[in-house]
Amino acid sequence: MPLQVYNTLSRSKEVFKPLVPNHISFYLCGPTVYNYIHIGNARSTVAFDTIRRYLEYRGYTVNFISNFTDVDDKIIKAAKEEGVSAEDIANKYIAAFYEDTGKLNVKPATKNPRVMENIPDIIEFISDLVDKGFAYESSGDIYFRTEKFEDYGKLSNKSIDELLHGASGRLEDDLSERKESPIDFALWKAVKAADEVSWDSPWGRGRPGWHIECSVMATKYLGNTIDIHAGGQDLEFPHHENEIAQSESHSGHPFAHYWLHNGFVTIGEAEDKMSKSLGNFVLLRDLLAETDPMVVRYLLSSVHYRRPLRYDETALNDAKHQVVRLREVLRKLNYRLSQDNANHLEGDAAIQAALSQAVTDFTQAMDDDFQVGNGLSVVFDLVKQINIYLEQSDVSQTSLLAMKSTLVELLEIFGLDLDAEETTVEDDIQALIDERNQARKDKNFARADEIRNHLKAQGIILDDTPQGTQWKRVDEL
Ligand SMILES: [Zn+2]
Repeated sequence: MPLQVYNTLSRSKEVFKPLVPNHISFYLCGPTVYNYIHIGNARSTVAFDTIRRYLEYRGYTVNFISNFTDVDDKIIKAAKEEGVSAEDIANKYIAAFYEDTGKLNVKPATKNPRVMENIPDIIEFISDLVDKGFAYESSGDIYFRTEKFEDYGKLSNKSIDELLHGASGRLEDDLSERKESPIDFALWKAVKAADEVSWDSPWGRGRPGWHIECSVMATKYLGNTIDIHAGGQDLEFPHHENEIAQSESHSGHPFAHYWLHNGFVTIGEAEDKMSKSLGNFVLLRDLLAETDPMVVRYLLSSVHYRRPLRYDETALNDAKHQVVRLREVLRKLNYRLSQDNANHLEGDAAIQAALSQAVTDFTQAMDDDFQVGNGLSVVFDLVKQINIYLEQSDVSQTSLLAMKSTLVELLEIFGLDLDAEETTVEDDIQALIDERNQARKDKNFARADEIRNHLKAQGIILDDTPQGTQWKRVDEL
């Protein structure tokens, strides 16, 4: 079965076929950088990072572009409140974005273009739309002539008539008298010359509207037609609809072949959507201050991207439990690999067969529109098999290595880096365990107990197995 993705444009699963074999152009709408990102924002970032990682695992080269909206009324407001420039606000929260998502092991984009760096391209793009009759000037603003783009509404399944009907019942806003039609939207907004965040244009001083930046940046960095355009489900209308209208009127070509939208994060009993405007958000930064980043990464990447993701204590605890199971099996693998007697046996053909079956099953699950839940079931079945193997007194180094590399490779797709290098703390623990084992051999049980109690006081529990002494942290039990 080939890779299939659910395309919002057709409301169906389609066989994925990139424009250029083995290459994928991928555009993801990024954050408006006026605050730290919350878990709802992080969900979008992580969901599409996981999809990108899977596409790369499948052998595609992914050109991944994701913008930072650094020109926006909310940024200008934050700048005024803090008494700094809008650029300072943007720089601060872009640095925070990299820091926070870096902890979640999100791969850096190929490029994160910013509006401020692309103003000449934006002006050129708008001028072209004006020249082609798709946009018009009004009091220094430029508006898109929505009714001229006949396909308007094709992504969100709305018709121009329906939209006009909906708009007619609404109260007139203060810009409505500048527009030819209530469903026209701004490409460029005139501002007073005194406003710091503005640029000269053929239509006077102003700044771009929001939607235009994504059309310009996607086209500039990926071409007139791109393979995958992604973003949160709340962006489907009007943002993505407007992007299509602008881009296709500009180039005369289809803008994006596959539109992927991620579901919301919900919070609380009522399962409300987490959002800044509703004020019920949890900042990623605050969660990371008290939670293992890999637990957060697991939570955000283990739910299918289109489904709502419920954020609560139970979900976090479930994620924690799974991460502990994964860390535990890797620790046991490393332990058996470190033992000298692991070298003697040949690789086990049955293990090899089980590993290739796991990879086949995993790929089949993920090829079906990135069904991460089914993919993780395969991973945990594999963990069970590895645990059974690790119970044996004789194991082969070849089989251990093969199991470890398959497991690590699959976990990497979820951004889960759980095979941590032995840290100094872990070296210290191991040194104490070695000392205790020596004490037991010497029948110095007082010292052996002292070490066990010393470790226990630090939350480290020892387990004397036939394969030697192993340890766990008590909060992982
Ligand atoms: Zn966008």
